[in-house]
Amino acid sequence: MVFKKFNDRILAKIIMTQILDGKKLSQKLKDELKIEIDNLKVKFNRVPGLAVVQVGNIAASNVYVKAKTKAAKEVGISVFDHHLEESCKQEELINLINKLNYDKNIDGILVQLPLPKTINEETVLNSIIPEKDADGFHPLNVGKLSISHQNDESLLIPCTPYGCLLLLRELNTDLTGKNAVVIGRSNIVGKPMAQLLLKESCTVTTVHSKTINIENICRNADILVAAMGKPEFINKDWVKKGAIIIDVGINRVELNEYKSKLVGDVLFDDVKHQVSAITPVPGGVGPMTIACLLKNTTVAFKNLNKV
Ligand code: NAP
Repeated sequence: MVFKKFNDRILAKIIMTQILDGKKLSQKLKDELKIEIDNLKVKFNRVPGLAVVQVGNIAASNVYVKAKTKAAKEVGISVFDHHLEESCKQEELINLINKLNYDKNIDGILVQLPLPKTINEETVLNSIIPEKDADGFHPLNVGKLSISHQNDESLLIPCTPYGCLLLLRELNTDLTGKNAVVIGRSNIVGKPMAQLLLKESCTVTTVHSKTINIENICRNADILVAAMGKPEFINKDWVKKGAIIIDVGINRVELNEYKSKLVGDVLFDDVKHQVSAITPVPGGVGPMTIACLLKNTTVAFKNLNKV
């Protein structure tokens, strides 16, 4: 017991934890995209166009749409905003998407989720032609992700897991053979994340709310991706020493009647001393998600123009 405590202390000192700065990396990505888009403009006399479609007025969606629009404009993407009333009918939304599908000035279409309960999200997302699917959610793009080779530059990849992968690559660590555990199996984060890690030749386990012995499985992970949506759920008992932690969770917790803050799925201060790298919340995966949306829009432009 005494030896274990001593060992933990020594280990905490030896392990230099790297904080994976998503803000910095997303800025680097945006700077590179801006140069690429400037070059595309010279060649095609046009820049990539992104249609941002929002239905209703959910506060969080307003914030996300504003951030995505601002970032897109910064890198030189033309943004076409379409804001529909909460009461809009599914048919009206699909008619709009059909128009955008044929619009030569639009390369990427983003439908901000969630949609009102009266509208079927799957039907709407599937009505976007796969070539303009900026979020990478269309079944054809999901299929391509699962069967394509590792460095296929033409893929449209779900933005959040794509951002996680780019953060991992920033470590310059060989991921081959690493034991990777993804907590969460959603279509937008967990499943595509597992696919991406598999492509990196990791040995991947996906765990979820029905997994038995989940803590033990996580404790064996060299790479642990937490995407469960449970505030500060993962503490140091779940984490192997020296592991790499990617915290996808964005949870708003109330501090008092007037104040709230954003936290991840990982108890950052508890875990950070015993891991080799960790993403903060905010400032980790979040900014990367937006940067990857811009990357996908540029990829869609290049695919459509056969670059
Ligand atoms: P989701 O659709 O609600 O999926 C959550 C997943 O976590 C489900 O698969 C669920 O299992 C699993 N889960 C829930 N409680 C669990 C538990 N106690 N133990 C193990 N697994 C558990 O959420 P999501 O859309 O994937 O998002 C996950 C988190 O990422 C949320 O906090 C969200 O806000 C955040 N997010 C962040 C970004 C970003 O840009 N940073 C983007 C998207 C999402 P079951 O399938 O069994 O229910």
